[in-house]
Amino acid sequence: MNALDGNAIAGRLWEVFGAELTNARSVCVHCGAEAYVAELHVYNRAPGTVVRCRRCEAVVMVLVEVRGITAVDCRGLELA
Ligand SMILES: [Zn+2]
Repeated sequence: MNALDGNAIAGRLWEVFGAELTNARSVCVHCGAEAYVAELHVYNRAPGTVVRCRRCEAVVMVLVEVRGITAVDCRGLELA
């Protein structure tokens, strides 16, 4: 499956965090790779959206919509 890039989740991140995050630097907690959020690999298949590190492909973020609210698990990355 082809991955999208982090720009695909720009709008949802804006809704959740109230900020433009695609130009934020992130660090993968699994391998330490630094990347702009816009450069991460996004797999936008239902039921949730999975965001993976572009170097090690570990899951760094998961977005799931529950009753109209987007829940974000971003324990796999830190902002640099
Ligand atoms: Zn990584």
